[in-house]
Amino acid sequence: MPIYEYQCNACEHTFDLIQKIADKPVKKCPECGKNKAQKLVSAPSFQLKGTGWYETDFKNKPEKTKSEPKTAEPATATEE
Ligand SMILES: [Zn+2]
Repeated sequence: MPIYEYQCNACEHTFDLIQKIADKPVKKCPECGKNKAQKLVSAPSFQLKGTGWYETDFKNKPEKTKSEPKTAEPATATEE
């Protein structure tokens, strides 16, 4: 999850918040309690914890061999 940096316009306190991208920006400053916090425009740094970022390539899946032997047809409907 990306870490966003905020700065309060009232007391100039800066703080970081880990948020989902879909989360709404926080306005309340944890220092003075005023709704003056503003998201800083610096590029968010992503917290990567090593796993879970594998890229699977589905396009390069090997095709199944088409030389499978046909099994005998089921003897169901008998024609006259
Ligand atoms: Zn503040």
